[in-house]
Amino acid sequence: MLSELVRISNYYGQNKDYVLAGGGNTSYKDENFLYIKGSGTTLATITEDGFVKINRKKLAKVWEKEYPEDTKRREGEVLADLMEAREDKSKRPSVETSLHDLFSQAYVVHTHPALINGLTCSACGEKAAREIFGDDMIWIAPTMPGYVLASEVKTKIEEYQKTGKRANLVFLANHGVFIAGDTVQEIIDMTEGVYDAVKSRIKRFPDMSPAILNPQPDKIKNALDANFITFVCNNEILNYIQNENEFKKVYSAFTPDHMVYYNHKAMFVEKIDDAEDAAKGFSEKYGFLPKITAVRGNGVYACGESEKAAQTAAELFCDTVKIAVYAESFGGGVFMPDWLIDFIANWEVESYRKSVAEK
Ligand SMILES: [Zn+2]
Repeated sequence: MLSELVRISNYYGQNKDYVLAGGGNTSYKDENFLYIKGSGTTLATITEDGFVKINRKKLAKVWEKEYPEDTKRREGEVLADLMEAREDKSKRPSVETSLHDLFSQAYVVHTHPALINGLTCSACGEKAAREIFGDDMIWIAPTMPGYVLASEVKTKIEEYQKTGKRANLVFLANHGVFIAGDTVQEIIDMTEGVYDAVKSRIKRFPDMSPAILNPQPDKIKNALDANFITFVCNNEILNYIQNENEFKKVYSAFTPDHMVYYNHKAMFVEKIDDAEDAAKGFSEKYGFLPKITAVRGNGVYACGESEKAAQTAAELFCDTVKIAVYAESFGGGVFMPDWLIDFIANWEVESYRKSVAEK
């Protein structure tokens, strides 16, 4: 069954419509054990070794325990209990392990598709999801990740199952989607159905065809004292960098992925020569130098500690752009709320994911 899990993980991992970089996770469970993607591994290339074997009885003890009210202490203790539930202590499981265990089905695939996030990161997303899927789905409003999110999903799944149905489709606002099935084929069929249903509601699709203007990466490199720069521009980006007001639609983070790969705010400048001064102001305001700098009418520059990190940041910014376009069909894009951004920015498990991403 692990080979089936690897197959479906690679299948979605290699399709950039579903996950980018290290995003998303998958699991298989039998009565006693849950096999979940290790944190910092990538679905596209994961093998059986990339999964962490979890003792489900130990994992379920989390629900019997009382944890401290204080967020930091609580998350620390929950993480320690999750680590304790591992059969193999050398690997670190995904932060979403408890969520996977809540589904009664054998396989769970959790992805962050831009198209679906057009729905989950939009003003009328929940209403539209109700219209499309009726009562066949669970919608979770933006929630503090970790223990609080897992508890919320647990409550909603238990409520849902009182109606005699098994929960197999959960949308997390400003995050992504969980799909569960007893076989890999069931998941593939269901995912296709969900994807097509959302797609049928999209009124305008992003135009990501490249637009090569006049990239000047060295200027940004010097202005921001960056190691590596990736320049990106396409027709859709051009729409958002025509003025600062348009850029406001893509300047923040829609999902935790954007925070992990390029921090939670992007910088806009009128002229490339403004970048150095603007970066100082930006850094005073947000506490970090921008990883994404958009220059009016010119393009977007992504900085990184390595070439790969810069490319991934650029790729994730393009994901933000796609989400913003898809969200137009559902009343317009809505970023993660500030309290959620603040929490994740200081959360140990995402900084772990980030430290892996920066390599
Ligand atoms: Zn996720």
